[in-house]
Amino acid sequence: MQTKFIFVTGGVMSGLGKGVTTSSIAKLLQLADQKVSCIKIDPYLNYDAGTMNPVAHGEVFVTDDGGECDMDIGNYERFLNQNIPKSHNITTAQVYSTVIEAERRGEYLGACVQIIPHVTDEIKNRIRKIAKDENLDFLIVECGGTVGDIESLPFLEALRQIKVEDGPQNVIFVHVTLAPSLDVVGEQKTKPTQHSAQELRRIGIQPDFLAVRCTLPLEEKTKKKIALFTNVTVNDVLSCHDVKSIFQVPQILYDQGILDSIFKKFGKVGMVNASTNWDTWNTIAESMINHEDQKSRIAIVGKYVTLPDSYVSVNHALKHAGAKLGKSIEIDWIDSESISDYKILSDYDGILVPGGFGIRGSEGIINTANYAREKNIPYLGICFGFQLAAIAFARNVLNLDDANSTEIKQNAKNPVVDLLPEQKEISDMGGSLRLGANEIIIKQNTMAHKIYNADMISKRHRHRYEINQKYIPEFEKNGMFFSAESDEGKRMEVLEIPSHKFYLGVQFHPEFNSRPGYPEEAFEAFVNASSAKK
Ligand code: GLN
Repeated sequence: MQTKFIFVTGGVMSGLGKGVTTSSIAKLLQLADQKVSCIKIDPYLNYDAGTMNPVAHGEVFVTDDGGECDMDIGNYERFLNQNIPKSHNITTAQVYSTVIEAERRGEYLGACVQIIPHVTDEIKNRIRKIAKDENLDFLIVECGGTVGDIESLPFLEALRQIKVEDGPQNVIFVHVTLAPSLDVVGEQKTKPTQHSAQELRRIGIQPDFLAVRCTLPLEEKTKKKIALFTNVTVNDVLSCHDVKSIFQVPQILYDQGILDSIFKKFGKVGMVNASTNWDTWNTIAESMINHEDQKSRIAIVGKYVTLPDSYVSVNHALKHAGAKLGKSIEIDWIDSESISDYKILSDYDGILVPGGFGIRGSEGIINTANYAREKNIPYLGICFGFQLAAIAFARNVLNLDDANSTEIKQNAKNPVVDLLPEQKEISDMGGSLRLGANEIIIKQNTMAHKIYNADMISKRHRHRYEINQKYIPEFEKNGMFFSAESDEGKRMEVLEIPSHKFYLGVQFHPEFNSRPGYPEEAFEAFVNASSAKK
């Protein structure tokens, strides 16, 4: 079976929502009963997103198979309600490493190794392998960056070659651009789109569709003008105007006939199946917008709060839970480095501490975890938020002098959180944390068991440190219990205080498993406990 390829490129500038466009097209095809998946190409030189600062690049999304990926992979998983493997996030470093290693093994003996064909061949191999191995009807490939960037040229060239080799009946290009209006009543400007399509044509790619970001729906005359200058049929110039929730984007693209047009271009006429899948999806998409009646105010306390994208999956997971429970979630981002008056936290219905690394802002988090415990405010601590909640308890309830994580203070007198033993020999920082999904055993008659209603769950991890088991008896004697474990009891996975309104810490990252319509259980329980104050 020949997989049909849809290649999504970006024009004008970054941040236009290529990931949402890619996910939305994939969703429409999935709703039409097609087997689909997505790939994200990141043309940067990092091997993966794991070593990048989330404030500059957004969250590092962890896959089941332990990939530290671009956050767009999270979008694909949430839209498709389907796991995406790490091989679907292709970077320049991965491609070049493979080519250079092959050269050293002598696989190109005699040849001068070049970007074309050796690098472009490797890119094409990776894309085609995924299409074949997963037996896909459609593979949507999003190329990161903006056309004109030097970094993305080999990737765009490889995509161009696939169209030549596989034929136009198997490949479509979608170009995402912008039509800005300089004031509210102002005209929608087409020049940036014209130039960007020209730039794409200059490297041999003619877009089949233009997905044009704009504030208000693209006017007919704007569509016509764009069509005229870009050589794209007017019906295939699509308005991607602002909507309340990104989950409405599939519908607005569908309403403009994208699905019919895609099938026609691929010669699959009459395949659009308006199946019952749509009802389920529409119910979910609508649930993500309509909850003005009940509200939960959540404080997220962490150190990467200047860019909400740093915790994008946490943000989504809270909203999924809110949607299911009929509550709107209002999030305030609080910088753990600058917080000094913890009383401001008493205004919130719940406090969440997400993952994090390093000493900066850690004392603020420890004090936050302590405040939530003392004031009986629902608390959900994830990874770093789990570890620092244990430290707060050790310091303030167990009176353990100088309790800390060795990540924060190497020679702490009481290393309540310590390096995973297998990490002691590791010197490379990239890809070396404890990563990906592991099985977790939950103890009977615990809050965790009630939340998950299961003896065993599988959750994703990304950490180097863990609870030091030496202290557990002391914790449990004083009311903080460790209710789940993994790796044959070697790792503590959940902490809870049964006497508290809701106090839960998890070593794993529940946010990566949350999907619209199917909120992750710990988030649902936390939002449920975080009822609005009167
Ligand atoms: N810094 C901690 C560790 O490495 C927590 C990591 C995280 O929150 N993702 O164990």
